[in-house]
Amino acid sequence: MSWEERWHPLREEWVVVAAHRQDRPWSGETVAREEERPPAYDPACHLCPGNRRVGGALNPRYEQTFVFDNDHPCVGPRAPKSLRAPHAPYRVRPAEGVARVVCYSPRHDLTLAELESQEIEHLLRVWREQYVELGRRPEVAHVLTFENKGEVVGVSNPHPHCQIYATNFVFKTIENEARLSREYFGETGRALFQDIIAAERRDATRVLAENDTAIAFLPYFARYAYEVFVAPKASHASLATLSAEETRDLADVLRRVLVKFDNLWRMPFPYVMPLHQAPTDGGDYRGFHFHIEFHPPLRKPDLLKYLAGPEIGGGNFLSDTSPEEKAAELRAQPEVHYRKTSEP
Ligand SMILES: [Zn+2]
Ligand SMILES: [Zn+2]
Repeated sequence: MSWEERWHPLREEWVVVAAHRQDRPWSGETVAREEERPPAYDPACHLCPGNRRVGGALNPRYEQTFVFDNDHPCVGPRAPKSLRAPHAPYRVRPAEGVARVVCYSPRHDLTLAELESQEIEHLLRVWREQYVELGRRPEVAHVLTFENKGEVVGVSNPHPHCQIYATNFVFKTIENEARLSREYFGETGRALFQDIIAAERRDATRVLAENDTAIAFLPYFARYAYEVFVAPKASHASLATLSAEETRDLADVLRRVLVKFDNLWRMPFPYVMPLHQAPTDGGDYRGFHFHIEFHPPLRKPDLLKYLAGPEIGGGNFLSDTSPEEKAAELRAQPEVHYRKTSEP
């Protein structure tokens, strides 16, 4: 049981941990809903190989990953250029940038958690290429790669895919992390994230997976019950500078976390997964440490973490669970995916 306030050094804010209020812990015996596995190929899916997309284009018969420009982009070269100027202090400008989609696999029924380590490694290289290519564009200040997974975060198509928003602004969370990392680096000469990793390794109770060059942990300051960070141990501003070994190790740790998530309730585990890479606007990001974050919205198989008064109204998170307990649950999960063990 914990009842305290924990400092979130990457957001510069307090997280209220009020786990003493929680009802009895989830017993973990049953999963409420019967899982329906989608078909390996869905003729109605606009992401499957050979199918027609919403914009009318035909997908190639791709065999591994497939990247394309989003048919309904939120930012893009065709965004209106001449805009009506608002009254001060309001400002407006064109929604410039590039929005893309990355399909992880031609298989409609797989999730990232079921891909082999080498396939995840390949995906990391695709993410790196996209970051480098899009980041080079003069109008792009930042490349945000993220996956929304599960109907509870609004994704109705199970085909495994993520999105890339290469924007003319830096997303607020990254801007904050970059500023805090720069200040910390200036004051101490160390990367803030290095010290976070060191603290997690010292406590050890929240570390979920680790190998020579990569680590995954449920952070001390977690805002969501099953929030997890995955990162290389050495400080890299982005995927761009990872060595082949570091890429392979990161894929390994990432896969182990994903499998633990799915095994927890024996269901595809919903999450929002952003890659936090440094902006590409030419700034100084020496203290920035690339990492992948998981923000799972569920506290139990059928219980959402509702964002309400404290979170939406006030801007700080109130966590109803103890990070140490949730980490222990994940640590106890096997690293072989349940779908691979229960198949005849
Ligand atoms: Zn599909
Ligand atoms: Zn981050």
